[in-house]
Amino acid sequence: MSATITLPRILEIGAGCSGNLCSVLKTLGLQAPLIVTDKIMVELGYVETLQKHLAEQDIVSDIFDNTVPEPTVASIQAGVDKVRLGQFDCVIALGGGSPIDSAKAIAILGKYGGNMKDYKFPRQVNESGLPIIAIPTTAGTGSEVTKVTVITDESTDEKMMCMGMGFMPTAALVDFELSLSVPARTTADTGIDALTHAIEAYVSKKANPYTDAQALAAMRLIGPNLRAVYHDGSDRTAREKMMLGATLAGIAFSNASVALVHGMSRPIGAAYHVPHGLSNAMLLPIVTEYSIPDAVGRYARCARAMSIATNDDNDQTACANLLGELNALNRELHVPTPAEFGIDRTAFFNNLETMAAQAIASGSPANNPKQPDADTIIALYKKLWN
Ligand code: NAD
Repeated sequence: MSATITLPRILEIGAGCSGNLCSVLKTLGLQAPLIVTDKIMVELGYVETLQKHLAEQDIVSDIFDNTVPEPTVASIQAGVDKVRLGQFDCVIALGGGSPIDSAKAIAILGKYGGNMKDYKFPRQVNESGLPIIAIPTTAGTGSEVTKVTVITDESTDEKMMCMGMGFMPTAALVDFELSLSVPARTTADTGIDALTHAIEAYVSKKANPYTDAQALAAMRLIGPNLRAVYHDGSDRTAREKMMLGATLAGIAFSNASVALVHGMSRPIGAAYHVPHGLSNAMLLPIVTEYSIPDAVGRYARCARAMSIATNDDNDQTACANLLGELNALNRELHVPTPAEFGIDRTAFFNNLETMAAQAIASGSPANNPKQPDADTIIALYKKLWN
């Protein structure tokens, strides 16, 4: 059986590589970019630096900096209008997953029009939008190398999964130096998000030898460095490994799919505005415990890749170590419970059936090594609360 692998045309990786933006644009024959970003990137001076590089090469750029964390249909509309009224030939996506996902949606809607919900899964969006040059500033989503964008429909509180080659950036500049300024809470949330991508890609029913190699490499980089970047954000060595790990995890899951953690996480994020990585972190230990019996060998290899089990440990011991480590990580990185985050118990319990239905509709639970029905997903949500 063969596997289809989709990747950006250009990947630049390493310290300072965001400074190569102009040469990448030149290689691609692009000269009229819209920078899609958020206000924090402006405040940190990252946008000014990019514009300075561009101006030195006589490239005039414009900015849309109104993207919001966990983007919604309404939040991207002004960016779409800007593309439709302007003369841009590409989009530069600068920021965490939220600006990059916003840019992906803007690049497609700006060229083809329509509503975001017209593009949601199961539709495969293979049209070419404006070329996207993605510059990630968090070591988390891997959106710079994925054919996915996630936009919330605020009218239904649904995080819409949109997939297809049309959402794959043409180029990605993965410069860990931009992640040195990420605060500890976001460092933890995005880091666990990347770890979840690697684990879910590895145990996914759609895993293949190529994605296995990327996922295991990602776990080797993330496992030993996640605590280090949380406790000391200025640790350049650990930041570099986390950034590369997040990108490799993105390549793995984009080509193998995520599974039950993500399926259950999106409804929590949409309904209660929990940051994506944080809702994944809440769910990862519980869903892993549920799933291990149907993929003992695969989860054991995850533990060994994360350096929390050795080749001398049998699979049962390695899986036990993995569960112990995921729970310990959540404690050390101060991942709150849903109640501690501020979610109302009654609202959560009244919403269980809707969340389970949304999880199943996203398609992700079908990739899980152990297949849950709606009742099982509801039971897992209750376990998460308790
Ligand atoms: P984010 O982009 O929402 O950023 C979180 C916060 O961190 C923001 O306030 C942002 O301004 C700030 N921040 C980002 N980089 C910073 C830096 N270098 N220094 C200081 N502050 C910084 O967070 P995220 O976790 O990267 O992205 C989450 C979004 O990505 C969600 O909408 C999620 O659904 C989506 N997502 C997409 C994919 C995909 O493949 N497309 C995969 C997973 C998640």
